[in-house]
Amino acid sequence: MKPDRPDHPAPPDAEARRAVPPVICYPVETLPKPDLAAYRAARAGWRKTAETLVPARDAACFAVPAGHFFRITSVEGPQVGDLNLWSADLSERFYSGKTRALHGTHLSTGDRMWSSFPTLRPMATITEDTLDWYGFDAFGGAVHDVIGTRCDPYTHCLLSDGGQYHHCCHSNLTRALADARGLGLPAAEALVHDVLNVFMCTGFTRDTGQYFMKASPVRPGDYLEFFAEIDLFGALSACPGGDCSAEHSSDSAACHPLLVEVFAPKAPPVGWAPAGANGYDRSHGR
Ligand SMILES: [Zn+2]
Repeated sequence: MKPDRPDHPAPPDAEARRAVPPVICYPVETLPKPDLAAYRAARAGWRKTAETLVPARDAACFAVPAGHFFRITSVEGPQVGDLNLWSADLSERFYSGKTRALHGTHLSTGDRMWSSFPTLRPMATITEDTLDWYGFDAFGGAVHDVIGTRCDPYTHCLLSDGGQYHHCCHSNLTRALADARGLGLPAAEALVHDVLNVFMCTGFTRDTGQYFMKASPVRPGDYLEFFAEIDLFGALSACPGGDCSAEHSSDSAACHPLLVEVFAPKAPPVGWAPAGANGYDRSHGR
């Protein structure tokens, strides 16, 4: 955090330096745009092929073939979900940081979840967000962030003088992946990564720049819908923070399950093809 009393005096031109307007790091005008109308048209007559109810304070895995849709829906009560996505063979994983750099701190309809290097390709495209009305509130909060990481027992241990809690999203995702893919816990844990915080309402405080959360505006029936650009394997944790209005990393919050449904369209969206690998030649100047 920035000090209240800086060690170093401001130079005479400090205000002029501060007044320089910002430049967007990654203008997305040249990014290939998803054809949302074609994606949405492909939902007509789709067929549900699978559903998974993720228990409260636990996680579950699901597979989504390329060209299919999946929905994460709030059921029973307000609940936040921590989402990990891999390619079906687990060789690629969701790249939260680059997704944030491209699409901003919070995702909504038309944004993509991008994969790690060296593929850096769209893994999934958001095709519907029933909370898109929320926008940014007066605190700078918004939903579906890619700025948090996932609640985890290591940070909790540091902050609670050695506390041991086993149902943080990191541990939930680790157990679920281990069970679903027949991996040991260490192998599964190494594959768990920073998440898309589905339904979570977060931001940074204006005065100290600290990561904050507040009660999620999600209500039963709200959903976030995705189109799978490649064959996907996903894991979703129903965070022990519940709606994240008070605390996580404990069993004190009211928690609810989350529903994941997979849908097969009658035909792929018009003009759609699975995402190819990134076009960089990987010679790195050699
Ligand atoms: Zn969590």
